[in-house]
Amino acid sequence: MALRTPEEFVQSLADLHLQIYLFGEKLDDYVNHPIIRPSINCIAMTYELARQPEFADLMLATSHLTGNKVNRFTHIHQSTDDLAKKVKMQRLLGQKTGSCFQRCVGMDAINALYSVTYETDQAKGTEYHARFKKYVQYLQENDLVADGAMTDPKGDRGLAPHEQPDPDVYLHIVERRDEGIVVRGAKAHQTGACNSHEIIVMPTVAMREGDEDYAVSFSCPANARGVYYIYGRQSCDTRKLEDNDLDVGNARFGGQEALMVFDDVFVPWENVYLCGEVEFSGALVERFAGFHRQSYGGCKVGVGDVLIGAAATAADMNGVAKASHIKDKLIEMTHLNETLFSCGLACSHEGVQMPAGNYQIDMLLANVCKQNVTRFPYEIARLAEDIAGGLMVTMPSAQDLADEKIGPIVEKFFVGQCDTPTIDRMRILRLVENLTLGTAAVGYRTESMHGAGSPQAQRIMIGRQSNINHKKELAKALAGVGKPWDKGKAKVPTAEASHRR
Ligand code: SF4
Ligand code: FE
Repeated sequence: MALRTPEEFVQSLADLHLQIYLFGEKLDDYVNHPIIRPSINCIAMTYELARQPEFADLMLATSHLTGNKVNRFTHIHQSTDDLAKKVKMQRLLGQKTGSCFQRCVGMDAINALYSVTYETDQAKGTEYHARFKKYVQYLQENDLVADGAMTDPKGDRGLAPHEQPDPDVYLHIVERRDEGIVVRGAKAHQTGACNSHEIIVMPTVAMREGDEDYAVSFSCPANARGVYYIYGRQSCDTRKLEDNDLDVGNARFGGQEALMVFDDVFVPWENVYLCGEVEFSGALVERFAGFHRQSYGGCKVGVGDVLIGAAATAADMNGVAKASHIKDKLIEMTHLNETLFSCGLACSHEGVQMPAGNYQIDMLLANVCKQNVTRFPYEIARLAEDIAGGLMVTMPSAQDLADEKIGPIVEKFFVGQCDTPTIDRMRILRLVENLTLGTAAVGYRTESMHGAGSPQAQRIMIGRQSNINHKKELAKALAGVGKPWDKGKAKVPTAEASHRR
């Protein structure tokens, strides 16, 4: 099959007849639901841009499995150049959507599993890698969206998976059959869960002996029997139910998270990629997280570009663009945003080839990237709110602006810089609100904190890879630590002696 059109993607999603619950009700026409549709539009954009020749270099890649052109979201990275292009593609999509466009979790999952299945086979004599390659080819040839699902609900964080009072808080195998396995559990905060054709499940933490039933990785169709979704709320989401495009700030695009439930789902062996090999669950978690921490050096930067642009436009419309402190704040926002991009590119360019042949990012730099992402978007958002002014959160509604009697009053009192229509000033302030406090803030702020692992997870990885001993050796060598010391030379030179020198 050739690359899909955005329309074909939306239709294929509708054809899945997914089991989605929102506000306590099961949805029928979910692809046209006003709360869900903006998130579908985001993924549709990954199809749209792939069809535009000017973006082909970023959006398309050559499959190492078939030699065919595929959407980069289904590609296994073959070089550091591929890794860098991935980050640039994500920045582009962040710019076009001002939102989380969701398709990256599947891309990061296939790239992590590609090397881990290979190494598991080498060590254990299993047959996961060949199966997995077949599956990747299936994704590529059908131009599918896969959802990489990692985060279990986890219950009591002080207990191992097998020690939990309710075993289902970690997804686990409940039955092994001749033809496959049966799994039960859930994946939480699942980005793009209801917008995917396929699900790729991975374990959520490094497992130990006793956790064999929880060390499981597999793929299944998003509409597999027993899979259903409970849609996550976002701040200000019901504004999308109002019939106007003003108060939402970004009417066309949005992110999506859901609780994905597996109620005794059967998975045939051909789609199982880890089954009880506890010692490989840690590597899978680290590699997926590493790839997704790299991803944030692209997607958050693209959304940051939109927020910086919105703040600068708000300054123009407020008539303060020439104020030196405004210019300086915009410079600071740009500096922070480009620092994140630098991290995304750095961990890509320093990537390494894995034994399986694919390329992986530099883990230390990817974790540094994400650690910065837990901070800089917050500062960029703070500065955007500073520049936008308080009106961003006190403005009357679209209905007030449209009202025959009070609309003109709203227009009169919320006018800014002389040439700017009030409606446009309201539009741009609503966009800042959307990105910093509304639905998109899920992706830009809180997800920057917790997505791809909370800050402490990166600090652990940074600690592990910082090679402090090497740094100590450098310092000791320069300081002369351990060398014999001649006490006799420790004299303060006289003025005469130093003059002679
Ligand atoms: Fe992609 Fe960023 Fe969304 Fe993750 S948070 S799925 S990297 S857009
Ligand atoms: Fe994310």
